[in-house]
Amino acid sequence: MRRGEGEKRRGGEILKTVAALVLIMLSISGSAQVKVRLFADRKPESVIFSVLHGRYEMTTADGARISLNQGEPVMITKYNGSLAFKARSQPGFISDSVVLSGSGEGCLFSLTIDGERFQGRSWSGDISFIPDLGTIVIVNTCPIEDYIAGVTQAEGGDGRHSEYFRTQAVIARTYMYSHMDRHTGDGYNLCDNTHCQVYFGIASLQSVRKAAAETHGMVIFDSGRKLIMPAFHSNCGGETSPAEFVWLSPAPYLKRVVDPYCSGTRNYSWQKTIPADQWIRTVREADHQGRSVAIGEAGFVQKTRMAEYRAGKASVPFSDLRNALGLRSAFFSVYPQGNNVVLKGRGYGHGVGLCQQGAMVMASKGFDFRKIIAFYYPGVTVRDIADTIPGVNASGN
Ligand SMILES: [Zn+2]
Ligand SMILES: [Zn+2]
Repeated sequence: MRRGEGEKRRGGEILKTVAALVLIMLSISGSAQVKVRLFADRKPESVIFSVLHGRYEMTTADGARISLNQGEPVMITKYNGSLAFKARSQPGFISDSVVLSGSGEGCLFSLTIDGERFQGRSWSGDISFIPDLGTIVIVNTCPIEDYIAGVTQAEGGDGRHSEYFRTQAVIARTYMYSHMDRHTGDGYNLCDNTHCQVYFGIASLQSVRKAAAETHGMVIFDSGRKLIMPAFHSNCGGETSPAEFVWLSPAPYLKRVVDPYCSGTRNYSWQKTIPADQWIRTVREADHQGRSVAIGEAGFVQKTRMAEYRAGKASVPFSDLRNALGLRSAFFSVYPQGNNVVLKGRGYGHGVGLCQQGAMVMASKGFDFRKIIAFYYPGVTVRDIADTIPGVNASGN
């Protein structure tokens, strides 16, 4: 949900277009895959790979091929700048990289990282292990729609309605196609944490896999036929935030939307009390000119979302105050009370784009995913990704 914060939106447009075109062509031919770095927020020193379903074959850096027996685990550890591999029925070996390729349909594997097992999580497709700067880089090459369903489940929060899952699947797919170049220099497309999109492996919920399949290929375009930046957050507190309140540049489809749907849902409001001197110090440190505010003049009511807190001589973006204090949202009012300051806020997350808890309510009221998307991203259209190439239609894929 932190996705997109601090993003360089303008960079790499050409690469992005090329990457998207290549993917679209692959998508049309039916073999589209995405490379995702797994456990990107950790630095694994040892990994155990186990086949859950299907057959896998190992290929070493020098081209040697080794077949694995069903269910046979492979232990991978760091070894003098390379990697050491050991399967139970085979002699161990050292290699600079190894690819484990599944053959046939339905190949699945599990991973144990530094002794930690991830019960209930499994991944599809191929996997490679490469040593890099004291850690093992794990890259999963998997079918795009497995990835989309997995992200939909991981990012979907506690929504359970099929129309809500369809909405999240279209968002996940739009983000993927517009960020295929995010890690190209690192040898993969996307990482599996909030820097890109959260991916815990294939979706365990049948309803999520169905929602991904039913929206196959569908993505969100802006009025200029470019993929949008599909920002979303947990709860907007009744009003979404213009993008420029949080990031540098505005977008016509990321503007203020008054949301009647999330009112009263779980993350709609919050309150936090902090010492008055902490508030004063935080404002002074966040103000670009080091200006501060006396406690008597610190009060500020934010009835509708505003870009900046202005009190005394200070003026500080609300999103900076949110980050400095780790607050649930930037949509809050300030009430000095004796030696304390009471912050009363609404919403959870950056507030830009789609409000998940509002979208869940819309889904339960009978709105379909196209209407939900059009409500939170004004002026967009939902189309097949193949529509980026004039005259080509991949909807029959
Ligand atoms: Zn990433
Ligand atoms: Zn909302």
